[in-house]
Amino acid sequence: MGAEPTILEPHTPHQPSEPHIIVRGEGCRVWDSTGAELLDAVAGLWCVSLGYSERRLIDAATRQLERLPFYGSFNHRTNDVALALADELAAVAPMSRCKVFFANSGSEANDSAIKFAWYYHAARGEADRTVILSHERAYHGSTAVAASATGLAHMHGGFGPLPFDMFHRLPCPDPAGELARESSPEEFEDRLLAVAEETIQRLGPKRIAAVIAEPVLGAGGLVVPPPGYLRRLKELLRQHGILLIADEVITAFGRTGSMFGSQHFSVEPDLLTVAKGLSSAYLPISAVLLGEHVWRALGDQSSRLGTLGHGFTYSGHPVCAAVARESLRIVVERDLPGRVRQVTGPVLGEAVSRLADAPGVLGVRSLGLLAGIDLAAATKPGVAGKRLAARAVEQGVIVRAIGDTLILAPPLATEEHDLTDMVKRLDAALAAEHSAPA
Ligand code: PLP
Repeated sequence: MGAEPTILEPHTPHQPSEPHIIVRGEGCRVWDSTGAELLDAVAGLWCVSLGYSERRLIDAATRQLERLPFYGSFNHRTNDVALALADELAAVAPMSRCKVFFANSGSEANDSAIKFAWYYHAARGEADRTVILSHERAYHGSTAVAASATGLAHMHGGFGPLPFDMFHRLPCPDPAGELARESSPEEFEDRLLAVAEETIQRLGPKRIAAVIAEPVLGAGGLVVPPPGYLRRLKELLRQHGILLIADEVITAFGRTGSMFGSQHFSVEPDLLTVAKGLSSAYLPISAVLLGEHVWRALGDQSSRLGTLGHGFTYSGHPVCAAVARESLRIVVERDLPGRVRQVTGPVLGEAVSRLADAPGVLGVRSLGLLAGIDLAAATKPGVAGKRLAARAVEQGVIVRAIGDTLILAPPLATEEHDLTDMVKRLDAALAAEHSAPA
């Protein structure tokens, strides 16, 4: 290990030592600076859907760089690529006649969606609707508004002036959690809905602007809610005039086995955010999809105010948009959602289910190409997860530890034999950890 790095690493405990350095990637494999070859079972950060060497994405970026490396989208002047991508996203969206707003990251998309929810209600003469509800353990990003909506305490400590007052929580829809104890999935849904209704009444239905929700909670430890929860929550919100923002930064573009997680749970959200898989992470781009009732209200209000006072220099950046167009084309052409649903998802699910009996494993779950493995806690919470993630690297596979849960979210383009190999290596890591002297 070398000297302390100059880079301030995001989402990293301060460590005065050299980080693990990745230098090259191909397919679902990466190589680190020591030359070690690793299967990447988390697709970077749940994002490199098409793997690390998709020639068509590289060519799309290069062609666009040569033709028009930048033109923004302010003041009614935009570029042809952003326009085309918006059309293509609207055509696959789980909402009819939506419009598309572009940003650069998942956090920015969620910030934008929440601002649009406030703007929507103000446009309709309900400016008192300022409260945003989200779930305990949800992750919505790191910008001020998205971090405030995030239900993870470590995202708030030390950042005093975040606008927490407007942000309230619903219980985490975790079937393994306290609220689900001794209940069927339907009874658990009833309990979650009862708490949601009680929370809405307590805060005042006319004070609440929106609920933001991940269809499957990712960074909260891979929580797959009971099947009818999101649909029933949406119906409850509709009755109270509250918007549903689906945060599909992880779940969009096939990861659950449907094009969108909202479709997996049969929900039509009012707003929907995407990032990561939109460009297979080759370049930063995100988007907010707005239902017709939302964008019409925004349009009316911005006409009254003179402009829609929100947007980023790089909204609809043509090179990022060109890569996203090609990425979406590949996802559709190869029917990756269908492949995840019928082939790769079941292969991963079956392999992971066999880990349930491995030493130190409390439970496993999966949906599509998402899997979570809960470990028995060691001396302190998080220690077992960290140790296993390090053991996994020794066995040649990168997994993510969230507390004592190991997460797998491999590229959607991973071949079946590589999926089973990822899990075999993880199994070897569990065995090595178990047989190691304490
Ligand atoms: N929403 C979800 C569900 C995420 O998983 C993430 C990132 O992991 C974000 C939002 C934030 O995205 P970004 O890191 O691109 O800002």
